[in-house]
Amino acid sequence: MEATPIPDFDAIIIGAGLSGLYQLYRLREQGLKVRVFEAGTDVGGTWYWNRYPGARFDSESYSYGYSFSKELLQEWEWSEHFAGQPETLRYINYVADKFGLRRDIQFRSRVTTAVYDEDSRSWTITLEDGSRVNSRFLITAIGPLSTPTLPNIAGRDDFKGASFHTARWPKEPVDFAGKRVAVIGTGATGIQTIQTIAGQVGHLTVFQRTANWAAPLHNGKIDAETQAKIKAGYPEMFARCRETFACFIHTTDPRGAFEVSDEEREANYERLYGERGFGIWIGNFNDILIDRKANATISDFVARKIRQRVKDQTVAEKLIPRNHGFGTRRLPLETLYYEVYNQDNVELVDIKETPIERITPKGIKTSDREYEFDIIIYATGFDAITGSFDKIDFRGVGGTRLKDKWKRGPETYLGIMVHEFPNMLMLMGPHTALGNIPRSIEYSVDWVTGLIEFAIEKGLTRLEATPDGVKSWTDHVRELGEGMLSNEVDSWMTGINSNVEGKQTRIVARYSGSAPAYRARCDDVAAKGYAELRLS
Ligand code: NAP
Repeated sequence: MEATPIPDFDAIIIGAGLSGLYQLYRLREQGLKVRVFEAGTDVGGTWYWNRYPGARFDSESYSYGYSFSKELLQEWEWSEHFAGQPETLRYINYVADKFGLRRDIQFRSRVTTAVYDEDSRSWTITLEDGSRVNSRFLITAIGPLSTPTLPNIAGRDDFKGASFHTARWPKEPVDFAGKRVAVIGTGATGIQTIQTIAGQVGHLTVFQRTANWAAPLHNGKIDAETQAKIKAGYPEMFARCRETFACFIHTTDPRGAFEVSDEEREANYERLYGERGFGIWIGNFNDILIDRKANATISDFVARKIRQRVKDQTVAEKLIPRNHGFGTRRLPLETLYYEVYNQDNVELVDIKETPIERITPKGIKTSDREYEFDIIIYATGFDAITGSFDKIDFRGVGGTRLKDKWKRGPETYLGIMVHEFPNMLMLMGPHTALGNIPRSIEYSVDWVTGLIEFAIEKGLTRLEATPDGVKSWTDHVRELGEGMLSNEVDSWMTGINSNVEGKQTRIVARYSGSAPAYRARCDDVAAKGYAELRLS
């Protein structure tokens, strides 16, 4: 009888973004043989790819950084409350260097297939160049927003000028001086891009399909005194992030919108509109995201702000969303975004009124006229959450394809495991708590590390979610989504992407309960010796 070959690695991690890097660090600490495969030429994931003008945090920098190393926390100094992409990428590189992570990362290595073999209880991955590697555990750290999608508009390849998707922005600076520039898309990315380039371009035309609610970021430099306070206060701040609903520093108001007088409500909205970050979204009254009437009060408030900030009231009305309430899609935070539309060199085209018919060699043709451009920027978003899974051919027990299994939406156990995909562990996959993402990443990585440690200690070589475990978690996630206004709206959060075939029906792709509840459930599974899993 042939001996079962020993896998090349204990664990393979796909992706060298924030989750892949921390997972590598943790598994190496356990003395395991680990290799990370990364498609890009360097570390950083989201922050490596999204180099578009104006890309920056909208979680407070200090609440976003890794919390696992006290030394790192004391060494690193964020320059702004919401750091820009170049600084964040420098930070991630600093982390990779400090902990010597690069030596276990293979760059320029896109994984195309991952196949489970029952005999050896291991995964074999194939890279784009055809090379193969195998490992006992396979950890996906491929990100919920990492597969960019271009708009399905005819003639895209005909355009003779320069065109870029924001998530595939060139490393060299793009010169906008005197250029006629188009931006398609007004999500968080489009808004950051528009407000940043409006002062640099010759002329800017924004093509908006759906107006989005946005609120002020109120960024600022961190002075020395604040820096010292931040560094001294890290333990308390992270403790606070652990307690809040979505791991941000903002705590939901315990009151409902109608538990206060009209004047108090208005004053509260005014205060939140003037404060830094996501407070107006997640530090607001506890019912604005579940109660239509409560939501209408904040939507009405922000609509009034837009009318005050935009001079031309026809333009202001176009910028006010009509088909969804405030905060029911991921809220973009902005810096003088609305004021951009007061500039003479900026035009807003509502493509619901005058749809884009095609891209032409010279620019963009709508039902109204042809616009000529030197540069077209596609800020058209991502095939979110499941898109990066669809791009890799994952084959589980007996050749089962993950794509087939998830045809009607993802089915997972704790958002981490899938039945018939033993030893595959997902970080920030479908059905996990996202929120302030590094906080969620650190928790999930620690949980996965604990499970692998347990398996090794007990000599287990096969870990699999049961059908019952998957059904109960998937049902739970679905139930939690009921009543959330966000689940009644088309957006990447409900799995919608108009540019991807088969992604026009809303699904429950995200866990929408609280992060503390998510962690309590996962902790309980670990405390009971992972007895809900099929272990052998
Ligand atoms: P997005 O929110 O999905 O926005 C895509 C935009 O492109 C929407 O305005 C969409 O219009 C438009 N669009 C897509 N296809 C189109 C087409 N064929 N024709 C015309 N318009 C089209 O994507 P995103 O702005 O890249 O943001 C995605 C997520 O990334 C955010 O929600 C956030 O979670 C994350 N992000 C974070 C930061 C940060 O932390 N600072 C910054 C940027 C992004 P419709 O609305 O009509 O579909």
